[in-house]
Amino acid sequence: MGWVDKKLDLNEALTFDDVVILPTYTEVLPHEPDVSSYLTKKIKLHTPFVSSPMESVTEYKLAIAIAQNGGFGFIHRNLTPTEQVQQVKQVKRYEAFLIENPTVVKARKKRKGSFYPTKVKEVLSLREKYGYSTFPVVDENNNLVGIVTDKDVRWRSLDELVEDIMVKDVVTIPYVKNDDKLREMAIEAMRDYRVGCVVVTRRRNSKKIKGLITETDIKKRDKFPYATRDKKGRLMVGAAIGVGEKELERVAKLYEAEVDAIVIDISHGHCKNLLDVLYQIKSKEYLTKVKETVKRVKKDYDIPVVGGNIVTKEAVEDLYSAEADALRVGIGPGSICTTRVVVGIGLPQISAILETAEVARDYGIPIIADGGIKYYGDIAKAIAAGASTVMMGRLFAGTQEAPGELVSLHGRLYKKYFGMASERALKNKAGGGRLRYLEFLDKPIDYLHVFPQGVEGYVDYAGSLSDVINQMREALKKAMAATNSRTIEEFHENAVLRKVSKSGAIEGHPSVTLEKEPINYRKT
Ligand code: 5GP
Repeated sequence: MGWVDKKLDLNEALTFDDVVILPTYTEVLPHEPDVSSYLTKKIKLHTPFVSSPMESVTEYKLAIAIAQNGGFGFIHRNLTPTEQVQQVKQVKRYEAFLIENPTVVKARKKRKGSFYPTKVKEVLSLREKYGYSTFPVVDENNNLVGIVTDKDVRWRSLDELVEDIMVKDVVTIPYVKNDDKLREMAIEAMRDYRVGCVVVTRRRNSKKIKGLITETDIKKRDKFPYATRDKKGRLMVGAAIGVGEKELERVAKLYEAEVDAIVIDISHGHCKNLLDVLYQIKSKEYLTKVKETVKRVKKDYDIPVVGGNIVTKEAVEDLYSAEADALRVGIGPGSICTTRVVVGIGLPQISAILETAEVARDYGIPIIADGGIKYYGDIAKAIAAGASTVMMGRLFAGTQEAPGELVSLHGRLYKKYFGMASERALKNKAGGGRLRYLEFLDKPIDYLHVFPQGVEGYVDYAGSLSDVINQMREALKKAMAATNSRTIEEFHENAVLRKVSKSGAIEGHPSVTLEKEPINYRKT
């Protein structure tokens, strides 16, 4: 092989604007397709949308909203392990039907050998810290003696005693294993005693607390029938980790918090470091170590691990042999990303998905297409090319639930959005961004030598996440129906992409001056 042949691959690499999905004869109506799809080998989502583990995208609020809407969020790692775990716990507790080991208030606290009664102000600070307002009250032996809710502390002065204002007649039910039965008993008790919550005790006539069930949680659950839930009915959430020994300590903590999936978050995942971490997380010895650390032995427990980011077949083979449960595909398509131009590496996203899917499909590993989604139609293109789910940053960063304040500029509302390898994220104290881009933390920060591969900017305010997801879901259903596909599997089989010319791509956009921007289109 000559030098030129060896050095230059003439196969054109394509991205979203370079292709369209060809419509076919169809018998499927637009409301009929089922968009459920696999995030990992075992986790199935009702809606195949995933939020990026980025500081300006996924913290607990967005993770809750996306899981309620049938998708999945990964909490970013520009947080200390403790902060990240706190965020995971907040999601897991949010819609928990039975809140196990709820936060309690001690009626009296021991200080310097004597007991002092707890005051209302301490309840208020717990409420501030955790965001919820119902706390069982216990005595020195952890026996249930009362309950305080929002109603009980309202209009009280800060120094009043919890013992005096708490409700002493607590409505309790004994724990039973069957979820449906427990739910039925809880609803019955709430109805009969006209209360908004019941304490679940370990057994009948026991004063020891097993958990708490609130009316709000029962209602929330009914409101989102397609939410992504674990076996215990709690919302699912993932978390991002980096590579190296230190990051494995993060996994131990996340495991204890019962995180549902982990994404190894490094920009170029086909490297020794990533494979080492995957081997360690997946290996029985590592899991045993984690299990010992957290003293919680669960038979046959496994943490699904997403490996990435990759764009080639060889990388799929390697991550497959490391037993990755899903692959995160995409190097450089992101809207805040400069890797392709400042480093020169990557691959346009449609080609990256097509090429990795060719191998991943044989191995049965789902692909998460990560980055570059500008228009809702790009989601269908990514899935048509072989992805099972689609990860997005930009399209979620503008929602109400994303972190950060609204900013008003020239009469329009925006939210901040920045890359995890932007200068801003790289300088973050927790250093997740620096690890993602393999700027290791063992060196002191030398700001002159930080090498950004991303930018910082603004995105339009997009309103509530559930409205955005509804539009995205509709768009995907329409594309599926147009190719006679009732399921994502059928869509993978039926959808054919056709390359378009530059003018063909331009033709796809409206060519009039818009009088009003539609809710699902904005030219970028
Ligand atoms: P978007 O949906 O905004 O087009 O892309 C989001 C994706 O971009 C993320 O999921 C992540 O893979 C990638 N990403 C996030 N921050 C950066 C960055 O600073 N630089 C690069 N190269 N990619 C980034």
